[in-house]
Amino acid sequence: MNQVTEVDHPLVQHKLTLLRDKSRTTKGFRQLMRELATLMCYEVTRDLSLDPVTIETPLMSMQAQMLSGKKLVLAPILRAGIGLLEGMLDLVPSARVAHIGLYREPESLETVEYYFKAPVDLPNRTVIAIDPMLATGNTAVAALDRLKEHGATDLRFVCLLATRPGIANVQEHHPGVRIWTASIDAELSDHGYILPGLGDAGDRLYGTR
Ligand code: URA
Repeated sequence: MNQVTEVDHPLVQHKLTLLRDKSRTTKGFRQLMRELATLMCYEVTRDLSLDPVTIETPLMSMQAQMLSGKKLVLAPILRAGIGLLEGMLDLVPSARVAHIGLYREPESLETVEYYFKAPVDLPNRTVIAIDPMLATGNTAVAALDRLKEHGATDLRFVCLLATRPGIANVQEHHPGVRIWTASIDAELSDHGYILPGLGDAGDRLYGTR
């Protein structure tokens, strides 16, 4: 699929299998999400641009490379996106964070916003929207809408599980946004759950059901 990277790294696939398993404890689920987030962060940042810099090693000066541009913005969609935040911050600890509070209306599956707080200079930064589940895509579309309204232009989306209709929805509304996922699952249930999926990511992450 154009603009979509399905990360087939063996560690990602192994940990995703453990995450899906319904016998996983809340603690185990949370830990695995964090580890998967770090691995996914490595993939989504693979093509960031570098600038040459001169540094002094203990022995001599050298030309080395450092990330160019302003610090990244990680934009977790509450609440399940928070489960991936710390694992990504482990790799890019100086990233800024934009919190986006959205939930799905259970009947209509429409998206309702209840919180938004982002760094003021989004236009100058690469912004990575984060949600473990790209199901219908409505939440992702709404989050990307909001980030664009606040000036973001360089946007990426990271999830763990996606569906083809969800990806198509995002691509229709936000054609320039590349997507990284650990798996594209087969189906979407009538209630908006990804099948085979992993259940409700927020509930499993926080032990609320
Ligand atoms: N959100 C979830 O947490 N799980 C799904 O399967 C779909 C959306």
